[in-house]
Amino acid sequence: MRASQTKTPDTLDTHGVGIAADLPLRLLLRFSDAAFELRFIKHYVAFYLRYAQVSLLLGMVLVGGDYLIDRIAHANGPANLLRLTVAVPVLLAGLGYSLLPRARRHWQPVMASFIVIVAMCLIDILVRIDDEGGAGLKSWVGVLNFTFLQFYCFVILGVQFRYALVSGIAIMAAFLYAVWVHAGLSTQHAAYWTYHVVTVFILAAGIGWWREFVLRKEFMARVELDDSRVAAEQRALRLAHYDEVTGLPNRRLFAELAAPALERSRRGGVGCAVLHIEIDRLRGVHDAFGRVQGDMVLAAIAQRLRACIRGGDLAAVDPLGQERLQADEGISRSPMAYEQRGRATFVHEAGAVARLGDNAFSILVVDLDNQERASIVAQRLIAAVAQPIVVDAQSMVLTASIGIALFPGDAKDMVGLSRCAEQAVRVAVEAGGAQHQFFDEALNVRARDRVLLETELRQAIQTGQLCLHYQPKVDAVSAGLVGAEALVRWQHPRRGLIQPAGFIALAEESGLIAPLTDWVLDDACKSLRRWSDLGLPALPLSVNLPASSLADASLPDKLDGLMRLYRLHPSCLMLELTETMVLHDVAAATVMLDRLRAMGFGLSLDDFGTGYSSLSHLKRLPMNELKIDRAFITDVARGGRDSALAVAIIALGSELGLQVVAEGVETEEQSAFLIGRGCVLQQGYLFSRPVPQAGFEQMLETGTTRSVAPSHANATVGTVAG
Ligand code: C2E
Ligand code: MG
Ligand code: MG
Repeated sequence: MRASQTKTPDTLDTHGVGIAADLPLRLLLRFSDAAFELRFIKHYVAFYLRYAQVSLLLGMVLVGGDYLIDRIAHANGPANLLRLTVAVPVLLAGLGYSLLPRARRHWQPVMASFIVIVAMCLIDILVRIDDEGGAGLKSWVGVLNFTFLQFYCFVILGVQFRYALVSGIAIMAAFLYAVWVHAGLSTQHAAYWTYHVVTVFILAAGIGWWREFVLRKEFMARVELDDSRVAAEQRALRLAHYDEVTGLPNRRLFAELAAPALERSRRGGVGCAVLHIEIDRLRGVHDAFGRVQGDMVLAAIAQRLRACIRGGDLAAVDPLGQERLQADEGISRSPMAYEQRGRATFVHEAGAVARLGDNAFSILVVDLDNQERASIVAQRLIAAVAQPIVVDAQSMVLTASIGIALFPGDAKDMVGLSRCAEQAVRVAVEAGGAQHQFFDEALNVRARDRVLLETELRQAIQTGQLCLHYQPKVDAVSAGLVGAEALVRWQHPRRGLIQPAGFIALAEESGLIAPLTDWVLDDACKSLRRWSDLGLPALPLSVNLPASSLADASLPDKLDGLMRLYRLHPSCLMLELTETMVLHDVAAATVMLDRLRAMGFGLSLDDFGTGYSSLSHLKRLPMNELKIDRAFITDVARGGRDSALAVAIIALGSELGLQVVAEGVETEEQSAFLIGRGCVLQQGYLFSRPVPQAGFEQMLETGTTRSVAPSHANATVGTVAG
């Protein structure tokens, strides 16, 4: 009798949905769960009420017909008006009652009482007929009348449900009393009528019971279907509108909720503010503690943000938990009702908080028209986020950066306000985080510029506006060219030559770094092929790889393809990676680097000293080369901390068997100092700036950096050995 048990925890969790599966249907036809019983009664009484109304009308027609037949049969004498005068008003009263609005609630006991009264009246009539010497209980006609009524009551008007048993027993008791005690029938006669009536009673009650049993079973199946549909719809609705981790509205719902509030502000001539909040360095929490803990931290922060904008003139939309509908609302539950409630709640409140992305929240604060008040709210939010959070018994402090856009000053619609607030938060983040920034027009111009640049960069990669410049790497003692680094440039049609600093970060953020890297690798290999074909010395060429390349499983295959295409040996290519990108996920990076190294590519750790400088990790990485960052070289000749660090890095690299290269060597003093400390491989303006292909080929040909055009020549060093 139990319906399917295969409900997901989610479904069971949803507003009491799923009860049908756990309902034992009792023999006495009652669901053990009171709320579910009520739901069944509501549903079927609604149907049987109409059914009973028709039956009551039918009852009146039958009684009327009975009277007419009686009248025709007693054409000479008076017809028996009793049935007409008693039964019809009773039936009429029942019909009238059924039309009352509250009739449904008490329909079952009323119907049961009604049936008992009608039966009693009939027994009384039959007994009186007997008393008057007519054919009442003593004749088969009277008993037939009675059994017919019984059938009518139990089958046609059978909406009594569990009251049927009580009412049936009452009627039977009255009948048996009348037949056995009152009517004065012989035992045989009385037994015969009793047998006859009890049989019909059992039959009628059995049919009634069976029908209701089937109805209830069907109802259970139907409810389960309804409930799972409602649960699925609600879940879909929740997923579409709410963030699962924090229970806050998502970007879409936020926009929908904010629209009427903005409209109200517009009509009322008052301002409001959108605060875009980013939690600084949240990624570190995910990395250190895992996703689950990270999500818990987010949920706690969401709670604080919500608490912060409640009270006073600010309020938040109720989170999902408070939107839940009660289980006993039964069949009226629908996703629409659910959704409308959410909106209604908002309309009466004064603000909203939503989660927009990984570490981003947005808050709409209404009735806020000046910067000072927005500033106070932002500070309150920053302070709330900065409260310590305990994760795995470890206390940590996070900070938040907030960008604020004001309506109507900064933008007139939600899309514009969100964009402005997001631009402002970028400034707050870039300034070190844990602060708030207001949007201003200059930001807007910068953002538009960025978007334009991104579009242009996309075209640049496809239309060949990129080119490689080459900066030689020299052996400062023998003055020999030992290699070169390929550095990308963008020959922009209007802006001129753009250095990597102007577009590499943009390419990384916009996902264009992958096609850009593909282009760089291809062009570098093309040049190597060309130099080889020209008979120029084969020197290893370094290429810078972006952070994302370590996660690109296809990189080895791509490189292998290039080696085949240009008929090159992997040893002619040195791949430069920064320590920050390697140490982000050491395990994964090591796997990739081991593979690249095994294929024969050179691996270089670029900008060493600026990142984590984790020496233990350094030992495990399969590197060939270490490039000391320019920052340590600048002041190297003057002694002090930088020179000490540079010396330590040189010693460390040598100890690990790595080739150490000093980057950004600009002066003779720096070069001499480094040579003195054992770092003979150097790269920098002292030898040559990065030069276009033709210039570098000249260097390769002559074997000296000095032959390069005078503008590149700070150079005083250098003929290529041999
Ligand atoms: P990096 O890999 O550390 O490259 C060295 C940078 O230092 C180059 O700047 C070079 O011009 C500059 N430099 C070399 N010697 C000196 C010197 O003596 N003094 C000074 N002040 N600077 C010197 P550039 O070409 O502007 O490149 C900057 C950064 O852009 C590179 O740093 C690299 O991280 C990135 N980059 C360049 N090309 C590519 C590329 O093709 N792909 C990727 N992913 N990044 C690239
Ligand atoms: Mg480099
Ligand atoms: Mg570098």
